[in-house]
Amino acid sequence: MEKCTIVVPCYNEEEAIPLFYEAVNEAVKDVNLEFEYLFVNDGSKDKTLEVMRELAEKDDRVHYISFSRNFGKEAAMYAGMKESTGDYVVIMDVDLQDPPELIPSMYESVLNEGYDCVATRRVDRKGEPPIRSMFANLFYAIMHIIAKVDMVPGARDYRFMTRNMVDSIVSLGEYNRFSKGIFGWVGFDTKWVPFENRKRVAGRTKWSFFKLIQYSFEGIVAFSTAPLVWSSIIGIIFCFISFAALIFLFVRALVFGDPVSGWPSLACMITFSAGIQLFCFGIMGMYMSKTYLEVKGRPIYIVKEKK
Ligand code: UDP
Ligand code: MG
Repeated sequence: MEKCTIVVPCYNEEEAIPLFYEAVNEAVKDVNLEFEYLFVNDGSKDKTLEVMRELAEKDDRVHYISFSRNFGKEAAMYAGMKESTGDYVVIMDVDLQDPPELIPSMYESVLNEGYDCVATRRVDRKGEPPIRSMFANLFYAIMHIIAKVDMVPGARDYRFMTRNMVDSIVSLGEYNRFSKGIFGWVGFDTKWVPFENRKRVAGRTKWSFFKLIQYSFEGIVAFSTAPLVWSSIIGIIFCFISFAALIFLFVRALVFGDPVSGWPSLACMITFSAGIQLFCFGIMGMYMSKTYLEVKGRPIYIVKEKK
């Protein structure tokens, strides 16, 4: 029988893990696949690791990897995919916001409809603060214009993939990982399954608003170089403006004489152009800092314990 590894990133999820385990067991019991669980403990500070150990003790199909510290969900997903051995891999959040009842039909689509991957997306953002939804929609709109890969609005990381696709994803060993882009970048035939947003079963979200903003900048830097082009264009426009202003002022001084006036406008122009310069430097700096991190070639995660 073919095997399917369920990869589950967990960070401070002691309450959610047992509920998740029960719910998934129930959902996949009639599927003609051998399932195994691969929990990834991303440096949790609560009893997450103990809960994983207990489960692994009771059930041979449960495995876990425990990181030496918190490396982030991207690292946890990467580690899970890298260590997975199944012919298929499912990535799922542990908080049951990703409905396990979809797994049988996802497998069905891969088996019978010739897809390499079945991915899910939320069709609504119920229960989310409106300001957060607004920024999320803005992010996808921008990415749609500037990024070279297809990013589907509301896409979750919850997906069912063939071994071939997982191996391709793992072969992208970049340090600054943005999976939503990577999934699209590797290609393969993907079927999108919509579902309605759900509340977490237990625990709290690990994403603050600030972290989400940071994450979206990472996505932009990782999958588009458009901001660098924009900053060059802004630079060229300002060169033209300043050149035109220079000619205008020079001619005016020749024709009308040169009374010492207009320093407020001068001060404004200097601060304005300095602001633009710093802004463009900042954009360049973001790409440079990411390159720096990439060049160092540090490992994406460090394992402390596994079973
Ligand atoms: N997670 C993780 N490392 C982190 C943050 C989150 O492994 O640093 C896991 C978390 O345990 C959960 C999943 O990633 O299984 C999604 O996190 P969360 O539910 O907090 O995100 P949201 O659903 O609110 O976007
Ligand atoms: Mg969640």
